[in-house]
Amino acid sequence: MVRNVCVLGATGMVGQRFIQLLSQIPDFNIVNVAASEKSAGKRYEDAVTWHQTTPIPEEVKDMRIVNTDPSEVSDDVDFVFASLPAGLAEPVEAAFAEKFIVASNASVNRMKENIPLVIPEVNPEHLEMMETQKDVNGWDGCIVTNPNCSTIALTLTLKPLFDKYTFKRVSVTTMQAVSGAGYNGVPSMGILDNIIPFIGGEEEKMQSETLHLLGKVNGGLVDKANFPLSASCNRVGVVDGHTESVSIEFEEDGITVEDIEKAMNDFRGIPQKENLSFAPEQPVIVRSEENRPQPRMDRDAGHGMSVSVGRVREDVFENSFKYTLVGHNTIRGAAGASILNAQLISKLYL
Ligand code: NAP
Repeated sequence: MVRNVCVLGATGMVGQRFIQLLSQIPDFNIVNVAASEKSAGKRYEDAVTWHQTTPIPEEVKDMRIVNTDPSEVSDDVDFVFASLPAGLAEPVEAAFAEKFIVASNASVNRMKENIPLVIPEVNPEHLEMMETQKDVNGWDGCIVTNPNCSTIALTLTLKPLFDKYTFKRVSVTTMQAVSGAGYNGVPSMGILDNIIPFIGGEEEKMQSETLHLLGKVNGGLVDKANFPLSASCNRVGVVDGHTESVSIEFEEDGITVEDIEKAMNDFRGIPQKENLSFAPEQPVIVRSEENRPQPRMDRDAGHGMSVSVGRVREDVFENSFKYTLVGHNTIRGAAGASILNAQLISKLYL
């Protein structure tokens, strides 16, 4: 069934990804695009500074941008895809949720009671919170969130291991692309020939969201997974694709590199079982080359929805292993994540 959709923040880095991806998926029909007051009333093509490598979709070019106000959005919209600045997201998403299902990218609503934070392959059962959220607020719609971009890639690789083994501790160091900060986020003079060893709030988000995603729903809250997780986050001069170096110490001994590679390669979730059209065949792809994954070579794996892993090897500490991963931050880490959440909701709940 075709679902009508609206994109909030449609002119931004993530908003453009939404427009690009949604226009390629026959089960979604873009009926409204919304942005700030300065863009409202303009044709999409005139308001946007388009940064995608494919042209602006024909059906969106001439659309008039509306204000970010539920009364300006068509009543027959099924999903509102939101990629708004953090400061704005909380009241705006709540206003839209009175009428619509909002698939949100902003951090502000992610850890709240009754609001599911979901990666479809990892914790689809957290979507059960949607009904309580509607009841508690008296809304016809609800808010469903996806995690931070670096957390999504990390958690997809941890999940198949978490289901089989016990983590004593996990640490991760990220090398994150500039598109993760939005178009105006990092000045070119700051990032060329440079690495910035700080991304505000990112380490805290990775540490809390990962444990939340691997946790169990208990009423409207989540009992988080319980293992120490330490993140160090860096911004590097790559346009798209976050790279992460991960190190895991297990409680069990006797685990091998082959066990880890097999668990990751064999990992499948509900989106694959339900044949959702935007789900990658393989959520995690383990590569055997010694110099992969690399962002330029591997970010588009599984049309940007697969996370590529390589260099799985034993670490020098007891029962410890390390690996490198690459995930596309604006596809699997943002717009694509919301789209897959919407496809899952559409298939199982509507
Ligand atoms: P961005 O490129 O700066 O885009 C911001 C969008 O919000 C634009 O469409 C802008 O419209 C609109 N906007 C700004 N002020 C507004 C206002 N007062 N009222 C209504 N709309 C307004 O940002 P982004 O990188 O796409 O990020 C959007 C959200 O997604 C953020 O919360 C971010 O943390 C999150 N996120 C981003 C990534 C990523 O990889 N980039 C990944 C995960 C999550 P105008 O063009 O009209 O100003």
